[in-house]
Amino acid sequence: MTAAVGRVTLVGGGPGDPDLLTLAAVRALGEADVVLYDRLAPYRVLPELAPQAEHIDVGKRPGHHPIGQSGIEQLIVEHARRGAHVVRLKGGDPYVFGRGSEEVLACHAAGIPVRVVPGVTSAVSVPAAAGIPLTHRGTSRLFTVVSGHAPLEEHELEHLAGLGGTIVVLMGVGTLPSLTAGLRRAGCDPDTPVAAVERGWTDRQRTTVSTLGGIMEECFRVGVSSPAVLVIGEVVRLAHDRDASIEELLARSAELTARG
Ligand code: SAH
Repeated sequence: MTAAVGRVTLVGGGPGDPDLLTLAAVRALGEADVVLYDRLAPYRVLPELAPQAEHIDVGKRPGHHPIGQSGIEQLIVEHARRGAHVVRLKGGDPYVFGRGSEEVLACHAAGIPVRVVPGVTSAVSVPAAAGIPLTHRGTSRLFTVVSGHAPLEEHELEHLAGLGGTIVVLMGVGTLPSLTAGLRRAGCDPDTPVAAVERGWTDRQRTTVSTLGGIMEECFRVGVSSPAVLVIGEVVRLAHDRDASIEELLARSAELTARG
């Protein structure tokens, strides 16, 4: 005898502000029996949007994975096998550095129906929270999103530098020194503006602006920490964090640098 198989919905929860959940995400949460959520997902809304569901924190912190990817996949499959509608709530979009594809494959392997609800990725929305557009007519007509989880290879740095558009880095705080040094080696102008936007869409959002040559020292000085999105390129000149304009942000950095 086989039990009724449930189903799984992978939901992209956006960058953290509940206002950036999609209607499809809200609907899926309302129909969930179990929600497995990540640290960067907007989990604070769960009591309101999924009041009848069991909420399980499978949060990953950099360098500290309490459950592990295969453990998460097992949990998803186990709950679905018991007939539950499992919502896997992730930060941003499930298919952007979110290991969503692995979870979909795990469901396929177990014969469990699975659906993906895209989300607002931090790659685009976190720069936007600091007033940084990734493209701007006449300034940048392309953007590349890279993972800073591991240092880039020399040929990757050369191609990135050669493209000349905007570079967006996720999970890049730890590898910032190797990235900035590598891009300079590959020929990028050390005066290229760079922004680090921490905790976008939360009330603790902060934008640090400098140049490719100066950002490492600046980030170290002000204590930039994960989660942060890095933006490298001329579009950073359009940045404004709430009321602070790019001039103020740059002046603030220069002041701090002068103070040493
Ligand atoms: N799937 C996610 C990305 C997961 S990787 C998405 O599409 O957004 C995790 C990285 O995303 C973090 O290290 C950070 O670089 C970025 N990130 C996610 N949410 C963020 C936020 N609110 N503020 C700043 N960076 C964020």
